[in-house]
Amino acid sequence: MPDYLSLANQLAPTLIAWRRDFHQHPELGFEEVRTAGIVAEHLRALGLEVVTGVGKTGVVGMIEGVGEGPVVLLRFDMDALPITEATGLPWASQRPGLMHACGHDGHTAIGMGVAQLLAQTRDQWPGVVKLLFQPAEEGLGGARATIRDGVLDSPAPDAAFALHLWNQLPLGQLVVQPGPLMAASDRFEIRILGRGGHGAIPEDTIDAVLVAAEAVNTLHHIISRNISPHATAVLSVGKLHAGDTFNVIAEQAEIEGTLRTFEPAVRERLIHRMEETLAGVTRAYGAHYTFEIKEDEYTPAVNNDPEMTDIAREAARTLLPEEQIIQITPIMVSEDMAEILNRVPGCYLLLGAEPEGGARGPHHNPRFDIHEDALPLAAALMSQIAVTYLLRGT
Ligand SMILES: [Zn+2]
Ligand SMILES: [Zn+2]
Repeated sequence: MPDYLSLANQLAPTLIAWRRDFHQHPELGFEEVRTAGIVAEHLRALGLEVVTGVGKTGVVGMIEGVGEGPVVLLRFDMDALPITEATGLPWASQRPGLMHACGHDGHTAIGMGVAQLLAQTRDQWPGVVKLLFQPAEEGLGGARATIRDGVLDSPAPDAAFALHLWNQLPLGQLVVQPGPLMAASDRFEIRILGRGGHGAIPEDTIDAVLVAAEAVNTLHHIISRNISPHATAVLSVGKLHAGDTFNVIAEQAEIEGTLRTFEPAVRERLIHRMEETLAGVTRAYGAHYTFEIKEDEYTPAVNNDPEMTDIAREAARTLLPEEQIIQITPIMVSEDMAEILNRVPGCYLLLGAEPEGGARGPHHNPRFDIHEDALPLAAALMSQIAVTYLLRGT
């Protein structure tokens, strides 16, 4: 087994330079043209077989080791968010309104580092490493787009791994756990259809504002009254729009929100009860409604395969002290690596990357930052995991 930690540490200044460059030039999902170009150029320079345009802007690189063996997929996401950066850091975003506020700039740099470490040591392991630089993780369906474009075919990966830098955990703490880690996510859209009219003549109207208010209230009772206290679910209404002026009763209202669940049966129950609730509330007022779960924006829960989790933990133990390898209560945020983990056994990890002096903002915050010392550690870790898996698979 090559000493990936010291190789990665030698590469640290390069990893940091790559990350800062990506950070200064953030790109939204499916628009990662500059980022993908830099990645593809780097992979080609390492002598890898490269496919671009996977899931629109994704890049796939293949590294063959020595001799027959399994195929392992390592996935890194590349997209930024529509947030205006407020860190004041010298390498802050140069594109107004766009920011790498989730650390995917770091993930891309880590992936380029892993490509280099594995290409450099390809005579010391068997099988194939497939590197996926995925576009559009932030709720835009990037993983699904790359799957549609065949990232899980020819060769089909036997295992898949990915990690997220996590600035809410101390530097170097690593979450490795089997089973559920992150929740499934749904987006819903509701339209309340009433009858508008004069604010002083309510008897001739069906007030969409009142019906929407009632609907929002009643929807919030589903979690507490229809879902077992032993299950986990979230229903949040994030958007409620109705009316244009003070003396007109609104004809329509729009409600949008998100659901988070872990078990498909809980998700189905929740959606079913939402439909029944909306039917009942609108009927009581004589209004109508439409209710839509945006199936194309659904992200399943992240579930780690127990055997692949063991491999990730075994690899982590060679790089980190035992007390830094932890388990946490599953978190309600979602991650589209779940699309891949639903099809290929694998493990998703969270690596602590809290900046020096503490995080000034969590993920998706304008003051978000990461500790750059996590970059070489992550590159070593992903390389070590891939090779541990490939050596074990033979
Ligand atoms: Zn994010
Ligand atoms: Zn993220």
